[in-house]
Amino acid sequence: MEKTLVIFKPSAIERALVGQIITRFQQKGLVIAGLKMMQLDEALLREHYAHLVDRDFFPLLLNSMMATPVIVMCLKGKDAIKVVRLMTGATNGRDALPGTIRGDFSMSGQENIVHASSSPEDAVAELSRFFKPEEIFDWDCNDKRYINSPDEL
Ligand code: UDP
Ligand code: MG
Repeated sequence: MEKTLVIFKPSAIERALVGQIITRFQQKGLVIAGLKMMQLDEALLREHYAHLVDRDFFPLLLNSMMATPVIVMCLKGKDAIKVVRLMTGATNGRDALPGTIRGDFSMSGQENIVHASSSPEDAVAELSRFFKPEEIFDWDCNDKRYINSPDEL
């Protein structure tokens, strides 16, 4: 089963949206394999957002991501990376479709509630950036019969 990283950004923490967003992922059938709160710093964010360090808005993004502690979560499931990105929606909350997390909770291109890994390569790199190996748990639901068909497992 695929694993992916979600970060509840300071916008989710400040607006007390974490519980209902976790509920969405659980209702979908994704499984929580890791979860913790942490304070991000500039060094970690320069790695995580390496593709954006030269952009004009990067200093604002740094401030935004360090404004409060964040909650990082590892979700597991069939095609979890794609599924979580679809549930997250377009980067700018004003463009994100209703029904997605950003579409329902964000009016901003920066304060957009969650980060979600965008490819299998990114997911592996990001999970090892934010979690120690022992913080990700290889447990699974005992009864998966109503989440996936046998040929999907
Ligand atoms: N971002 C921003 N302004 C922009 C583009 C991105 O502040 O014009 C922020 C926004 O918080 C976004 C993050 O930088 O979520 C990472 O950008 P990316 O293009 O990787 O989008 P994502 O993968 O989060 O949809
Ligand atoms: Mg991205």
